Amino acid sequence: MITNLARGVQAFTSNAFLVEGDRTVLVDTGSNFDAVGKIRGRDAELDAIVLTHTHHDHVGNLQSVKDAFGVETWGFDADLPEVDNPIADDETVQLGDHSYTALHTPGHKNDHLCFYSPSASVLFAGDLIFQNGSFGRTDLEEGDRDQLIESIDRVRDRVDEHLAEMYVGHGPSVTTDPYRDVELAARAARMR
Ligand SMILES: [Zn+2]
Repeated sequence: MITNLARGVQAFTSNAFLVEGDRTVLVDTGSNFDAVGKIRGRDAELDAIVLTHTHHDHVGNLQSVKDAFGVETWGFDADLPEVDNPIADDETVQLGDHSYTALHTPGHKNDHLCFYSPSASVLFAGDLIFQNGSFGRTDLEEGDRDQLIESIDRVRDRVDEHLAEMYVGHGPSVTTDPYRDVELAARAARMR
């Protein structure tokens, strides 16, 4: 069961996905809304926080969630204050009931990770790829368009073309042929 806790929130926030199962994980915490209350409202016992990257809109609620549930965080770069435990490129990470492969995918931000589960046929794309072939902005610090294109290509090559679901950092997630959105993003990012 994957739930976007930020759904309907009118504030500057990323999406925040509660992945319930054997290991209940919050993928990004969002910011400027009561994530703790929303997790409690679902009667969920949180086991961990996993971050796609550490932009403020993805980690604003981090401390309150850590304090409320006594959990640690996982992310690519454990030198960052938000990250307690490192996830290496290509490492396996348990989210809910499934194993995901972490894909280091810089270009939007240096510590950016995507998470892909072949068995669940689910991709967490963070701020790399969005609905309708939109892609992460590269005009912020650590942004790099060529790197972003490489990262999108890498994800496209890794996921199955029958991918079932793509959960993204902003806007609606995609449950109808998300591979098409990945391909569109790979093409759109090359147009300047
Ligand atoms: Zn971002």
